[in-house]
Amino acid sequence: MRAFSTPTAIAVAAASVLSLCGSAWAGAPDWKKSEDRARSNIKSFSGYTLNGADHAYDVTDRVLDSDGVQHIRFNRTYRGMRVLGGDLVMHNESSGNFRGASLSLNRAINVARTTTISAGTAIKVAFNTYRGSTNGVKPELLVYARGDIPALAYDVRLFGMQPDGTPMEMHVIVDASTALILEAWNDIHTAALAGTGKSLYSGTVALTTDLVGGTLNLRDPSRGNTYTVNMNNATTGTGAIFTIPGTTTTANVWGTGAIGITAAALRTVAVDAEYGAAKTWDYFKNVHGRNGIANNGVASYNQVHYGTKYANAFWSDTCFCMSFGDGDGTILGPLVSVDITAHEMTHGITTRTANLIYSGESGGLNEATSDIFGTAVEYYAANTTDAGDYLIGEKVVKTGTNKFLRSMITPSIDGLSADCWYSTLGSLDVHFSSGVANHFFYLLAEGTKAGVPSKTCATGNTRVASGTGTLTGITRAKAEKIWYRALTVYMTSSTNYAGARAATISAAKDLYGITSVEQAAVAAAWTAVGRP
Ligand SMILES: [Zn+2]
Repeated sequence: MRAFSTPTAIAVAAASVLSLCGSAWAGAPDWKKSEDRARSNIKSFSGYTLNGADHAYDVTDRVLDSDGVQHIRFNRTYRGMRVLGGDLVMHNESSGNFRGASLSLNRAINVARTTTISAGTAIKVAFNTYRGSTNGVKPELLVYARGDIPALAYDVRLFGMQPDGTPMEMHVIVDASTALILEAWNDIHTAALAGTGKSLYSGTVALTTDLVGGTLNLRDPSRGNTYTVNMNNATTGTGAIFTIPGTTTTANVWGTGAIGITAAALRTVAVDAEYGAAKTWDYFKNVHGRNGIANNGVASYNQVHYGTKYANAFWSDTCFCMSFGDGDGTILGPLVSVDITAHEMTHGITTRTANLIYSGESGGLNEATSDIFGTAVEYYAANTTDAGDYLIGEKVVKTGTNKFLRSMITPSIDGLSADCWYSTLGSLDVHFSSGVANHFFYLLAEGTKAGVPSKTCATGNTRVASGTGTLTGITRAKAEKIWYRALTVYMTSSTNYAGARAATISAAKDLYGITSVEQAAVAAAWTAVGRP
């Protein structure tokens, strides 16, 4: 990612960005005017934005700072074609003047006007590798700009089911002149590689439910109407919302605290999912001022008892919902703990903001974002039965040496995740390349501590950290603020680890000042995980 605001431009503005002075509030801007201004800035500052004659832009998100500075996110098209990796964030001063631009595109688009291979050939190439079916969706001709040189390519969509029951919604990017697969990813974002748990993980919790006629529904009108359905072991269809006959407080009790086959016991994991969704909603609203996943007050919903012994959980943008398996019952219990629920919902937020592509280093950063906020929500919930920690899925894993899915303290403890950045990190599965950012977040928040096995990375990076450096943490609360601002204001779809370093440093300067201890700590923590 290139953060083209010129460090000075960011710096000058940063000092006043989040001043708490009430008079600094500039009120809601006229967004139409701000967007027009950002569009004209894209053209005027084409040296920064890499604008060209056949480029056009659609607004996808807007962020307003308390001093009136605006950050407007655009998708780019070229001759009417989507430019994958061409998205950018324009930063306007409160006056509308150009303040900077964030983008990952690194050179002007100069692609062939015609294709050498047909859409049919592209489908065959994709199908031979991934199978599935196109469901009648035609390949989209686009400009692929995630590599060094932008090129014409087909985005072939393939739908189907993976062997473990996870739905497949593949994007296979096929070069329109060489027929090579440039990149491929699954839009279904899974939480975990495996799962665990015994029953209700969070003890007795408060729920807000909905009374419809003479029936109680597991739906929360105070949080965008988020609700939970019983898939009854199916993997298709819409399921049925959980209900209890009755209208009284005495009747309004859900689950039994254990798993089982009675109607009451089947509601137990629904309670966990609904509770996790409520805490996630509250966290983003109260800590970051975000009104739901799409920031529009509309909630997602939960599908529990998804599939049979399905040992995973996933977010789907298509249904705007989360699906939770019951686990295999031996290694993993139902995958409905608070950290996993928040992890899944965060994928929805990432899609609507930086939209980090689920492949390579950007995919690792996407996964890490979900682990970071999954952990943040677990702490925020302050539940004594499932206390906050830097482990993912510790309530769900039932057996093994490490009773959790991932550790942010020492990611490599699982034998697969990376503690430290190295040049080919992006070839790891996204759930393991995320380790470096998870490790960064832990060190930034907590620092190195006696007795805690979170080491810095030695020179000559390897996957496992073995350094002896020391760092002082800036607190988890500040680290969360920095990551959220980087995600929503500076990162774009192809941001890599170098870009994440730049984005978080920019965010820390905005929030805490250009010479702040916090921005220096961000830089030091990235250096400590091998990404100087
Ligand atoms: Zn995930």
